[in-house]
Amino acid sequence: MKILVLNSGSSSLKFQLFIKEDLSVLASGLIEQIGNSSSGASLSFPDPSGLEKKLTRNDPVADHRQAIKVMAEMLQESGTLVDTSELAGIGHRVVHGGEAFHQPVRIDDTVIAAIEELVPLAPLHNPANLMGIRVTMEHTANTPQVAVFDTAFHQSIPEHAYLYALPYNLYEEHKVRRYGFHGTSHSFVARRAAAHLKKPIAELNIITLHLGNGASAAAICGGKCIDTSMGMTPLEGLVMGTRSGDLDPAILFYLGRESGLDMDELDSLLNKESGLKGICGENDMRTISQAAEQGDSQAKLALTIFSYRLKKYIGAYMAALGGVDAIVFTGGIGENSAMVRELSCQGLERLGIHLDTERNRLRQKEILEIHAADSRVSLLVIPTDEEYEIARQTLQVINKD
Ligand code: ADP
Repeated sequence: MKILVLNSGSSSLKFQLFIKEDLSVLASGLIEQIGNSSSGASLSFPDPSGLEKKLTRNDPVADHRQAIKVMAEMLQESGTLVDTSELAGIGHRVVHGGEAFHQPVRIDDTVIAAIEELVPLAPLHNPANLMGIRVTMEHTANTPQVAVFDTAFHQSIPEHAYLYALPYNLYEEHKVRRYGFHGTSHSFVARRAAAHLKKPIAELNIITLHLGNGASAAAICGGKCIDTSMGMTPLEGLVMGTRSGDLDPAILFYLGRESGLDMDELDSLLNKESGLKGICGENDMRTISQAAEQGDSQAKLALTIFSYRLKKYIGAYMAALGGVDAIVFTGGIGENSAMVRELSCQGLERLGIHLDTERNRLRQKEILEIHAADSRVSLLVIPTDEEYEIARQTLQVINKD
C-alpha cells in the first residue's frame, strides 16, 4: 500500500507518493502556476532499474480540480500509482490549525468546518489547503484523509510565551496570540537531532532554525516546543526573503501618517518588499552571498542583518530553555549557507558554541556536525523533509484509528 502527501498552495500543488511500509519515496511532483496560461506539471520517479525519470506537461491547468486530475494521470502514467485503491491514506498539509488542533487528525466534515473557521487567521493558505482536501475527497471518498497542521507542534507553547502584551480581550474575542509555523519541519529535525545524538529527545534542549524563504526559530524542551519566532502570522521574528520579521509596530502608524500608505500597502510592504529584498534588492540568499563575496556592500549588509537577528534569537532561546544541547540549521539557507551559519555563531564561544569553520564548509546530504571538538553545544545541519514527516504522521493517525 501507499501514502500520498499533498501540499496544496494558492497556485501550486506539490505531492509525494510513499511506500507505506518503509516510507521510501516512489514519486515527487509539482504543478505550478495553476490558473495561469504558463502552468506546468512535472513528476520525478525512479524507473525499475533505479534511474531517475521525469514526466512533464505544459498544458494549462485551470484550477485545483484539474490539478488533482493531472496529478492522478501522471502518477498512473509513471506506473507508481495505477489505482487509488492502492492508497492506504492521504496526508494534507494544512497551514493553520489555530487552537483547535494539537496534532494531526482524520478529516471529516467537522474537521473541514473547523479548518474553514480558521480562514481569517490564514486567508491565503487555509482556503488553498481546503480546496485540495475537498477535491481529493471527491475522487477518493473511501481513502482515509489526514490533516497535518503547521501550527500543531507549537500548541505546547505556554501562555506566557504565546500571549502578546495587548488587552486580554483581544485574545479572548479575536484569538490574537502567537501560533507559530513550520511546525512539521521543526519537529522533524528535532527528532532527527536526538536520534543522531543517540539521546532520548525528552532529555534534550534543542534550538531549531528553519531558514528558507520564510524563516523561523523554535525552542524545544524535552521534545516539546516552548517558544517560536513566528507569531500570529508568519511575518514576525527572523529576517526573511521578503518579510521584515520583528519591528517596532509604531513604524506602521508613522508610515501611515507620513507617507499616506493604506493598510493593504503596508501589508504588502512588510510581507513582499522587506527582509533581504528590502535591504539589498534581492531575496535569494544564493545570489546575495555571491554578491557579498564580490564586495557588494548592500548584499553584505543584508547578510549581516539576517545573521545578527538569528544570533539574537539563539541567545534568547538559550535563556528561555536555560541552556541548550544542540542547535539545528535547516531549510534552503540553513542547509546550504556556510556564511549564515558562521556569522550567526560568531562570538558565541563564551556560551559554549564553537563552530568548526572547516567542517562548516563541507557539503553532504546527510546530517553534518559542524561544531568544534571542544564545543559544549552540538551544531548540526539537518536536511528537512516535511513531506516525509506528513507521511509519517498520516500513517500514525491511520494506524491509531
Ligand atoms: P521555501 O521556504 O520556499 O521552501 P527553501 O527552504 O527552498 O525555501 O529555501 C530557499 C532559500 O535557500 C533561498 O534563499 C535560496 O537562495 C537559499 N539557498 C538554496 N541553496 C543555497 C546555497 N547553496 N547557498 C545559499 N543559499 C541557498
